[in-house]
Amino acid sequence: MKQGIENLEFWFIAGSQFLYGEETLNQVEKNSRIIVDSLNASGHLPWRIKFKGIVKTSTDATEFSREANYDKKCAGLIVFCHTFSPSKMWITGLKSLEKPYLHLHTQFNSNIPNEEIDMDYMNLHQSAHGDREHGFIVTRLRIPRKIVVGHYEETEVQENIAKYMRAAVGAAFSRDMRVMRFGDNMREVAVTEGDKVEAQIKLGWEVNTWAVGLLVDTMNEVTEDEIAAQVDIYHELYDFNTDKIETIQYQAREEIAIKKLLDDQGCSAFSNTFEDLYGMDQLPGLATQDLMRQGYGYGGEGDWKVSAMTSIMKAMSFGLANGTSFMEDYTYDFENGLILGAHMLEVCPTVASDRPRIEVHELGIGGKQPPARIVFNGKGGNGIAVSLIDMGGRLRLIVADIECVEPTQTMPNLPVARVMWKPEPNLKVGAHAWILAGGAHHTVLSLDLDAEIMRDFANILGIEFVHISKDTDLATFEDELQLKDLLWKLK
Ligand code: MN
Repeated sequence: MKQGIENLEFWFIAGSQFLYGEETLNQVEKNSRIIVDSLNASGHLPWRIKFKGIVKTSTDATEFSREANYDKKCAGLIVFCHTFSPSKMWITGLKSLEKPYLHLHTQFNSNIPNEEIDMDYMNLHQSAHGDREHGFIVTRLRIPRKIVVGHYEETEVQENIAKYMRAAVGAAFSRDMRVMRFGDNMREVAVTEGDKVEAQIKLGWEVNTWAVGLLVDTMNEVTEDEIAAQVDIYHELYDFNTDKIETIQYQAREEIAIKKLLDDQGCSAFSNTFEDLYGMDQLPGLATQDLMRQGYGYGGEGDWKVSAMTSIMKAMSFGLANGTSFMEDYTYDFENGLILGAHMLEVCPTVASDRPRIEVHELGIGGKQPPARIVFNGKGGNGIAVSLIDMGGRLRLIVADIECVEPTQTMPNLPVARVMWKPEPNLKVGAHAWILAGGAHHTVLSLDLDAEIMRDFANILGIEFVHISKDTDLATFEDELQLKDLLWKLK
């Protein structure tokens, strides 16, 4: 797992000009610093904002942009035009900007003070027109950006900035993503395939393969001490509902070896397939689940797209604790409008409502020994299910709003972790829209993120975004997909 996410920061840049004189510019800086300090002290922002300076000339705008592009700690910009800042001087800077960009349409004072207001006051509180000038040029340049409107002390404004931060950090994480593939895609499966070159161009992902034999060699190098230490971690986190300790030790060996290879190669995510486990005794179950808990992404059956998205969405959820997991839509309860999600083994324990228990059961496919896995019930809460598909010529990110519920039945003979949810607006419309959009059976399920964050993420990276929500109407949705198909062919 790559370190350093917590050290990312956002740069606050105030727009102004020399027209109003030095005294006003000093006030602009003073006020901007107060806004930044207030936002940082709000407790609602997952990352720090750093006051970076004031754009007064075209040279300033270009320099800030170049500096932001090359600064690894800078995850994005936040721009606010405190006074009128003529936008032609921003053109070169904005055109060269590669970092995510938030236009914060705020104002230093939250209201109009009856006695105090005069033309000096007006000049210091003119984002109402200064930000319109700024908004025009960004629209004219067709630069993707987030707009947040409101006084900076409002909780809603702070929360919207926080959402943008999560999307921007997701984009930064995505552009630094490496995925390790063990084995190819599951034979004949379509939706888990995709254009890895396109994914690298658009999303930055380096998706490459490593031999299963190398994994087996690495597993054979794992020491008994390392295995014992890993089993101690399992004891801390999970109940042991089996006496097959050797089976658990084998999963520990797999986990340590996979983690070592991932870390050696700077990979944050991996995929494997039950069809290619040559030299391995068990499909990694517990091993994969425990790796996901630590933030690594996983996709079953060679699904590198969902694996990378799992890792990215875990990074985007930094500081939140409701959980994000690789998921699969498995079976329906049509009578109660519910979906039961699970996988043959690999669901992340961050979405567990109860203490997970390690169990060992036969696996019906793959022809290997019965693997250890953790079994638990999923949590309730509002969340999203996310699928990234390759439409041929473009990538489409589909996000469905869902309401997770604790499983309504005990299902004593189901030997895997189980998560249950109601898709919005209901099972029939939600599933209908999902199928119409081409969404996969594999998803990333998150109880920490929402559709707005994912929309911003898609906008930053320049991929198509489709949202299924409580407002989804099938006829409108179908028309929307057709229009988008045409739109993306023109892009
Ligand atoms: Mn699957």
